[in-house]
Parts: sequence; C-alpha cells; structure tokens
Amino acid sequence: MAEETIFSKIIRKEIPSEMVYQDERVTAFRDINPQAPTHILIVPNKLIPTVDDVSSEDEAALGRLFTVAARLAQEEGLSREGYRLIVNCREHGGQEVYHLHMHLLGGRPLGPMLARRQ
Ligand code: 5GP
Repeated sequence: MAEETIFSKIIRKEIPSEMVYQDERVTAFRDINPQAPTHILIVPNKLIPTVDDVSSEDEAALGRLFTVAARLAQEEGLSREGYRLIVNCREHGGQEVYHLHMHLLGGRPLGPMLARRQ
C-alpha cells in the first residue's frame, strides 16, 4: 500500500488549498509555489504514486486530467496563446510529491521544454 502524501489531505479538504475544481475522479488546486501566472495541479483522487503505477482501471481518471486541464485552461484565459502540461516521474523527472499529478502552466511564454545542454 502506497503512503499518502499531502495531496490526499488536500483532496479530502483536511488541509487548505486554493481548489479550483473537484469531481468524483479528480481534484485541481493552485500550486503553492507557482512557476507561471497560472500554475494548477490536477490530481486523481485515488492515490497513484507515479506513472509507473497506473493500470487500465485508472484510464478514466487519467483521461479526466486532460478534459479538466482543457476546461481550466479555458477558464484561465490560456487557450488562445497556449499552455504546457507536465507530468514528472521519479528522480530524473524531478517528481517531489509521490501522488501522480499534472501541472497546468501558462500565462507567459514558457521557454524551451527542457533546459538546454551546454
Ligand atoms: P512535482 O515536482 O512532484 O512534479 O510537483 C509537486 C508540486 O507540488 C510542486 O510544484 C510544489 O510546489 C507543489 N506542492 C507541494 N506541496 C504543496 C502543498 O502543500 N500545497 C500546494 N498547493 N502545492 C504543493
């Protein structure tokens, strides 16, 4: 059984967050340390630690991450100029919180996808 993170407590509203969306499958809330004018985390309500832990029964929730991302991007006024969705996995991916989540970032040009090699 995977260990819960702070995200489970946010989903259950046991600790505060700036929540912008919730349904029976996913929850979205603003990142505490925003890297762009809009920085929202979209999270399956079920604890799935990493992308490596997804199974076919999670497909509905994972698909919902995208439909909610598009809806929130529209609401945040990002759709015309665009935005970026990021899912980090484990150490090399830079994952800090082991509860799978999608970052929705936008509101400024976000630069190259990766830091360029020297
Ligand atoms: P990761 O690096 O795992 O892809 O992203 C984790 C994100 O969660 C980071 O951007 C971090 O700022 C955010 N975060 C960590 N703890 C909290 C918290 O307690 N509340 C909120 N709203 N965001 C958090």
